[in-house]
Amino acid sequence: MCICVDCHWLDRCSTYHAVETQHGVKHLSSTPDFEPRQPRINVHLRSQGLTTTVEWDVVACNSFVMDLGHWQRLRPQEVVPT
Ligand code: SF4
Repeated sequence: MCICVDCHWLDRCSTYHAVETQHGVKHLSSTPDFEPRQPRINVHLRSQGLTTTVEWDVVACNSFVMDLGHWQRLRPQEVVPT
């Protein structure tokens, strides 16, 4: 699971913006202005039949600041991405 969903910088972060792009989801911000320090990303390849999907998860980051439930507060009607 991506740690960004509980991070203070979530809606300003350029790396989370890139993760959203990779997942093909709508962006929390169109103009991210925060550059995180040393985010570490796990890339998972999932094959199902002839289809392969790529999943990106930030698993560690030197800029992480805990803000539990941040993503959910920004999108209260939606399911938190996993
Ligand atoms: S954990 Fe790092 S990469 Fe993820 S939103 Fe926070 S600052 Fe950005």
